[in-house]
Amino acid sequence: MKKQVIALLMAAVMVGSMAACGSDGAETTAAADTTSAETTTAGEAADEEGKEEAAGDNVLVMATNAEFPPYEYHDGGDIVGIDVEVAEAIAKKLGMTLEIEDIAFDSIIPELESGKADIGVAGMTVDEDRLKNVDFTDPYTTASQVIIVKEDSDIAGPDDLKGKYIGVQLGTTGDIYASDYEADGSTIERYNKGFEAVQAMQQGKIDAVVIDNEPAKVFVSQNEGIKILDEALTVEEYAIAVKKGNTELLDKINKALGELKESGELQAIIDKYISAE
Ligand code: GLN
Repeated sequence: MKKQVIALLMAAVMVGSMAACGSDGAETTAAADTTSAETTTAGEAADEEGKEEAAGDNVLVMATNAEFPPYEYHDGGDIVGIDVEVAEAIAKKLGMTLEIEDIAFDSIIPELESGKADIGVAGMTVDEDRLKNVDFTDPYTTASQVIIVKEDSDIAGPDDLKGKYIGVQLGTTGDIYASDYEADGSTIERYNKGFEAVQAMQQGKIDAVVIDNEPAKVFVSQNEGIKILDEALTVEEYAIAVKKGNTELLDKINKALGELKESGELQAIIDKYISAE
């Protein structure tokens, strides 16, 4: 895994800030100005700063978009959720320290391609187009797209989305699914956060939201007067994305993931956040 000096710097800053606030979460924001460090590989850095390199090599950088409960979301100053705990458990098995980068959902794949992040863990659906740009591990859970509407809506199923204003999160499988309705005269409104789409619907700006089932449940539970329609629109699998061709990391993660499935640890993490119906 190629590590960059910036990761070391960020880790150092993080440790400092974590110590200061007593938080046990790891949060960094996307580093905007990483260019100066980009050309320095871990190997080169090691020659200059041998001590820090060892630490850097042990950092597993996870890119995510922490707006997707119960998989990843903000809780006070921390980023928590199923994906965070799964990634923590994997990092532990790999003998690495997890570092979280909270960025826009549609920046996660570019972040992996550039090598700034090692893994993308973001309730990310395995998808043909994405497979052209990244590799996916074995899936760790299944999901579906659902429709959220106001309780008094005349939209009762997917057919009724025709000609309507549909809100989605930019760059998600919900966006891909809903975009098919453009041919039917529907208008797709793309938001940076799923929650913003729900708010827009509450304000009467759009008629429906297409989003993954578990975040949908969370948003509906937190808002009055909205509901999820029964009919699921898709069947999807979530997996962890890595840089294309990084089979070494892919294999290691698949092994760790297999062990977490086998031991029941993965299910225990999911059960902690999602109660069975
Ligand atoms: N599962 C959806 C996708 O992969 C949404 C993920 C998300 O918004 N974090 O596109």
